[in-house]
Amino acid sequence: MDLNSYAELAVRLANTAGSGGEDRDRLTNLDGLRALVADREHLNTGVTRNDLDSLRALRAEFRAFFVACGDGDGEDAAARLNALLIQHPVHPQLSGHDGQPWHVHYTESGSVADKYAAGAVMGLAVRVTDLGIDRFGVCQAAGCQGVFVDTSTSNTRRYCSERCMNRANVSAFRARKRSEDGGETKSPDAAAEQAIE
Ligand SMILES: [Zn+2]
Ligand SMILES: [Zn+2]
Repeated sequence: MDLNSYAELAVRLANTAGSGGEDRDRLTNLDGLRALVADREHLNTGVTRNDLDSLRALRAEFRAFFVACGDGDGEDAAARLNALLIQHPVHPQLSGHDGQPWHVHYTESGSVADKYAAGAVMGLAVRVTDLGIDRFGVCQAAGCQGVFVDTSTSNTRRYCSERCMNRANVSAFRARKRSEDGGETKSPDAAAEQAIE
């Protein structure tokens, strides 16, 4: 796994709170935690209740970081990330497990949550210096808890997923249409459309 891809762990953790138009919290039990790390062999070892609690707390910290970025408050975002870097120190090691080419693990010691946190926090720090803080943000779709890292060339991303972008476009279109129709919101059409949402 290359160093940039570690930031993906932070996004993935934050988005378990409900993203992509799904408002269900996906990190409420150990099965949810196992699903979170399923494709990361070095993290996918015995998970415990303590890991779950730690990662839920870290999730809130990540959310606050992305909110600060989205608000354009670089000082706050950097201070939050610096605090996390102190709490979750890295001890980089070259690793070549499971037939993979040599790659860096940010830490090999501690619990699943310790390893996850060290990787995700350092991954964010690397990505911030690489892309800039304005590339991190929270999904603008109504009711969505999702976060994202904008790697588009246009730097115009506003949603956590294509699904949220489509939902937001549809409701903006409907809002426009309703105001064009003279503010009528109780027409049978509008009622039917709302039922589909
Ligand atoms: Zn590895
Ligand atoms: Zn979203």
